[in-house]
Amino acid sequence: MTKMNLELTYEEVKNKIDNYITNPEDLALIDKAFKYVYEFHEGEKRLTGDDYIQHPLNVAYILASINADTATICAGFLHDVMEEDDSNKEELLDIFGEVIVNIVEGVTKINKLNFDGDKKAVIESHRKILVGLSEDVRVIIVKLADRLHNMRTLWVLPPKSQKEKANETLDILVPIASRLGMNTFKSELEDLCLRYSKPDTYFYIVEKLNQTKNERNLEVNKMIEAVSLLLDKEGIEYKIKGRAKSIYSIYKKLDKGKSFNDIYDLLALRVYVNTEHECYQVLGLIHSKFKPMPKRFKDYIAMPKTNMYQSLHTTVFGVDEHIFEIQIRTYEMDQIAEHGIASHWSYKEHGSTKADLQNAMEQKLQFFRSLIEIKNDNSNDEEFVKTVQNEVLKENVYVFTPRGDVIELPIGSTPIDFAYRVHSGVGDKMVGAIVNGSIVPLDYVLQNNDVVKINTNKNSLGPSKEWINMAFTSQAKSKIKSFFNRTQKEDYVKLGEEVLIKEVKKRKIPMADFFTSENISKILNEFKYKDEEELYVNLGNNKIPVGTVVNVLYNDNASKEDLILKRVINGEVEEVNSKDDIIVEGIDRIKVNVASCCKPIPGDEIVGYITKGHGITIHRAMCPNIMNNEERIINVHWNNITTKKYPALLLVHAMENKNLLLDIIARSSNSDITIQSINAINSSDNFMYELTVLINNVESLKKFMNELDSISSIINVERIIK
Ligand code: MN
Repeated sequence: MTKMNLELTYEEVKNKIDNYITNPEDLALIDKAFKYVYEFHEGEKRLTGDDYIQHPLNVAYILASINADTATICAGFLHDVMEEDDSNKEELLDIFGEVIVNIVEGVTKINKLNFDGDKKAVIESHRKILVGLSEDVRVIIVKLADRLHNMRTLWVLPPKSQKEKANETLDILVPIASRLGMNTFKSELEDLCLRYSKPDTYFYIVEKLNQTKNERNLEVNKMIEAVSLLLDKEGIEYKIKGRAKSIYSIYKKLDKGKSFNDIYDLLALRVYVNTEHECYQVLGLIHSKFKPMPKRFKDYIAMPKTNMYQSLHTTVFGVDEHIFEIQIRTYEMDQIAEHGIASHWSYKEHGSTKADLQNAMEQKLQFFRSLIEIKNDNSNDEEFVKTVQNEVLKENVYVFTPRGDVIELPIGSTPIDFAYRVHSGVGDKMVGAIVNGSIVPLDYVLQNNDVVKINTNKNSLGPSKEWINMAFTSQAKSKIKSFFNRTQKEDYVKLGEEVLIKEVKKRKIPMADFFTSENISKILNEFKYKDEEELYVNLGNNKIPVGTVVNVLYNDNASKEDLILKRVINGEVEEVNSKDDIIVEGIDRIKVNVASCCKPIPGDEIVGYITKGHGITIHRAMCPNIMNNEERIINVHWNNITTKKYPALLLVHAMENKNLLLDIIARSSNSDITIQSINAINSSDNFMYELTVLINNVESLKKFMNELDSISSIINVERIIK
C-alpha cells in the first residue's frame, strides 16, 4: 500500500507558532530545537518513506494547534532524540535546560518500552503515563500528539500491529485525553482506532455518511437559516455551524443496537455566542420556535462536566420534521470543550509555567485527585494501573451534591464512596444517606443524576468495618481501613505509654530520671525505632516486653519478666503440686515452690519471688527474707479451691512438759491437723517446742493455735519464720 503524504515544512509550523508566541528568546529556542532534531535525524527515513523529520514537525504542529507553550513545543520537536544510553543528556540540558529535558525524558521513558504482548511492559508503560500526569501533564500532552501523528500514519504497519496499537490507544490514551477534556485529540484518536481495530465497521459508516451527505447538508443548511432568522431578529451576535458527528460516536450508537437511520442526531449544529446570558437567550428562542424533545435538554453551563466541559444541549423537532441536536456555547466554553486542560494555554498571558497547568489540573479535574490518591495508596504497579483503569478511566456515573456540584464516581459506587470522595471527614462521620429525598441503605448503587445527601453526626465513632465490602472504590476502602489502623494505633500508643510508666514505677526508678530525651533516644537507637510513637505502638501491642526496654538503661537488674520469659523460653517449666493452688499473675506454666522459711499456707498474704533458675518461690508477704528484693517480686494469690495441706511452723512456750505432747496431739486430731514433727528446744527457764503441722488454711491454723493456748501449761504459741 502506498500513500501520498503531504510534506510539512518548518515554515508552516513556525507560522502556526508565530500566531501566539512572540517573545524572541522563546522563538530562538524553538529554532534551536528544530535545528537539533533536524541534524539528529538527518538522512533517516520513516517506514512511510518520509524523511524522519516529518514526524517531529507534525508533532510540533499538532502542539502548536492547541497553543502549547514554548517548553512543550520544544519537547515536541525533541521527543525522539534522547539516546538510549542518555549519552546526549548533558548536551541537551546545556542547550535546552531542565524543564524541556524532563518532558523529553518522560516521553522517552514511556516510548522506550516494548509492547509486543509483554504484559509487564504494558503495565509499566501505563504506570509511567499515569505517574507522568501527576508530575508534569505536558509529558502526556506531548505523548498524545506523538501518538496522534503515529496513528495518522498507522497504515504503514502490518494489520496485527495496527490492531495492537489501536487497542492500546483506546485503553489508555483515549480515556486520558477525555479526562483532560482534550476532545479534538480524543475524537480523532477514536476514529483512527476504529479504522484499524474494526475496519469493516469503520468503512461501512464512512460509506453511509457519504451516501447521505448531500441530503444531510441540505437539511442542516435549512435549519441554520431558520435559526439565524430567529437570532437576527433579537440582534444577537452569533456564529452557527453544521456539526459533523464523529464516526466513532456513530459506531457507539450502532453498537448499542440502533440502526443507521435511527440516529437522529446525525443532524447537528452548534451556536456560538459571546456571553453565558446569550446562551440561555438563544436556547429560549430556539425552544419557542421548535418543540424540544423531552428529556434531551442538558444544562452543562450551570453544571459543568467533571472535565470542565460547558454547553447547553437540546434536541428539537426542526425544519421538515427532522430531529436536530443543538449545542449552544460561548467561544471561551468552546476552547475548553475542544482542548480541555490545554485551553489553559490560550487564556494565560505569555509565560505560563508548569505549575500553572499542573495547578489548573489539580483544581479543575476531579479525576486528577482520584489519580493522586490511588497513586499514594497502591505500591504495586499492576494494582495501581488496574485501579486507575477501572475506577478513573472507565465510564462513570455522575451524581450531585445537594448544592448541585457534580461528583464523578465509577459505576457500582455507593453512598459510602460518595461520602469519602467528598471528604474523608464526611465518610468517617457518616450515619446515613438520602438519595433524591429518600433514605437509602448504604449499599445502594448510585445512578446517574442522583442527588445524594450524606447525614453525618459529629459524635459518630467512625465507619463500620462492613463498609469496606459495601464500598466500590479502592479510595473509600483504603480510607476506611486507614481509619481503623489509625484508631488502633492511637490505642496502642496510649497502652504502650502506660505499660512503660508502670514498669518504671515498679522498679522504683524516679520518673524524671528515666524519661529524659537522652534516655529515650538511647532506647530508640537500641530498637532502631524512628520515634517514640513507634516505641509505644510496639510496647502497646506486645511486640517487645517492657522489661527489655527498661533494661536498655537499667540493665544490672534483669527484670522479672525477662527471667520468667527466659524460663518459659528455655523450657524449664515443670508442674509442681502447688501449681494448681497458686495463681501467678500473667504466667501460665512455671515452676512454683513454697518457701521453707515462712511456710505460707492458704489464706496467708503471699508474693512470688523469682529465683535464679528455680522458677517462683512463694513467700508470705511479710517474710523478711525477701525484703529489699522488690524487683524480683511478682503478684501471686491462692486459688480459692485449694484442698491440700501445707506445712506451718509453730513455736510453743510451756511451763512444764507434763503430758504436754499428748495434749498437743489430742488437739491436733480434733482439728484435722497432721503433726509432721515436734522438736524440743532446750532453754534454761521454760520448755519450748518447735512444731511443724500440715494444715488447710489460716483459719484452721488460728483455731488450732487458740486450742493450744487454752492448754493450761502453755504460755504462748506463735507462728515463726526461720
Ligand atoms: Mn515519536
